[in-house]
Amino acid sequence: MLDPVTTTILVSAGVLVVVDAWLENRRAMPPVPENIDVNEILAAHYRPCEADRRLIGQCRQMLSLTFGCKTAEQLERTITEQMTPMTVDERIAFIRTLAGQAAATLGVRLNDIKVEYTSATYAGHYNIRRNTLHVNACALCDRAYLAETVRTIFHELKHAVQAAAIRRDGNAWGYPVEVRAAWAHSMRNYIPASVDPYGYFHQPIEIDAFGFENSIVPHAGSH
Ligand SMILES: [Zn+2]
Repeated sequence: MLDPVTTTILVSAGVLVVVDAWLENRRAMPPVPENIDVNEILAAHYRPCEADRRLIGQCRQMLSLTFGCKTAEQLERTITEQMTPMTVDERIAFIRTLAGQAAATLGVRLNDIKVEYTSATYAGHYNIRRNTLHVNACALCDRAYLAETVRTIFHELKHAVQAAAIRRDGNAWGYPVEVRAAWAHSMRNYIPASVDPYGYFHQPIEIDAFGFENSIVPHAGSH
């Protein structure tokens, strides 16, 4: 079911079809296998280095100013509460602005930020070849995905940070050489979730991106 606000705003039948297809795809996505506990993986393997702890602090500060929310624990709920009354077009504009602010906070220079409707299952992705951030506008049509979309921005931007940091002249953050080597190796040997969910959640660049997004916007009840 779409939000009531959504159905009154999305007048284009074509858009409604795409949104419905996306919601159906997301709900039909295979659940994370029983032997995989993302929190457990992160507790065991996510070790943010000094540069990341600094970035996490800066992103939290940016979000607490944007949402007027003092504690990270309340952030997920506050994001949902503040974005729910917005129309979908307002949510799209808000997320585009927030993504730009997040990129600036992280020191990432993107070629473009696209918030577009697509029935592809992703909520967002970073295109390393084009250096562009993509957010799926379908995710903004259901309040259940609003806080998740904010988390997705930081997840995908962390992939942009990784991609820049492994370049010879791109490591503006001062990541240690062993971290950059692990990311470079992980990128060359990337494991899609659809191929191997276990491998997907255990590869260095995903542990780093999931750990990063969850440190900035913790899942309610996960601490
Ligand atoms: Zn990722």
